[in-house]
Amino acid sequence: MSSIADNIGTVTRRIQKATLRAGRKAGSVHLLAVSKKQSADALRTAYDAGQRAFGESYVQEALDKIDALADLKDIEWHFIGPIQSNKTRQIAEAFDWVHSVDRVKIAQRLDDQRNRALPPLNICLQVNINNEDSKSGCSLEDLTELADAIEEMPNLSLRGLMAIPDPDQPEAELRSSFRKLSNALKKLRQEAPASGPLDTLSMGMSGDLEMAIEEGSTWVRVGTALFGPR
Ligand SMILES: *Cc1c(COP(=O)(O)O)cnc(C)c1O
Repeated sequence: MSSIADNIGTVTRRIQKATLRAGRKAGSVHLLAVSKKQSADALRTAYDAGQRAFGESYVQEALDKIDALADLKDIEWHFIGPIQSNKTRQIAEAFDWVHSVDRVKIAQRLDDQRNRALPPLNICLQVNINNEDSKSGCSLEDLTELADAIEEMPNLSLRGLMAIPDPDQPEAELRSSFRKLSNALKKLRQEAPASGPLDTLSMGMSGDLEMAIEEGSTWVRVGTALFGPR
């Protein structure tokens, strides 16, 4: 077995254990293999080991890999990086999910540019959960307005929320960040009907995925622990 296959096995077992320990349904937490800066060959190895969902942060690099791996059936592409408005067309055309939508303008462009023949683009709203100046993401206060705007966009399906809390903060604060995101999703569900199932929390990385799963994560995003250093 390749070490990538070993690593996928190890991380998958961690996810399964944490899911059961948290009293959640088996299979309710998915592994997003964060493959930015990794070669198409590395992704193919992961695919051969059973991995289907890949997360990319840089548009051009991702398009090259999507092209190189076009023969792989039911591979799923997730965009997780900051979005410039001049890149939305390529993202809307090539990806299945976008985790990093943080303003109406970007959502509107993705909706306009999504091919009508494709299923709606799955969207998570990125929240700047620790209110860090340097980070992308909207504030918790902006969520309702964004969700309401997306309700009018037929080519987007609003799946939920994403955050990248600072993994180096003290454990209690990290847990509180995850819980805030989880509560924000519950609140959105109680508000006006949304254009999507609101069933997704994209949170947790290699060092904190157990805690994120205890707090309701449905997608953990893991890169280095699968593929090695970038
Ligand atoms: C790079 C990245 C990850 C994964 O980070 P690793 O340290 O490689 O596990 C997770 N989420 C986002 C948004 C990223 O950009």
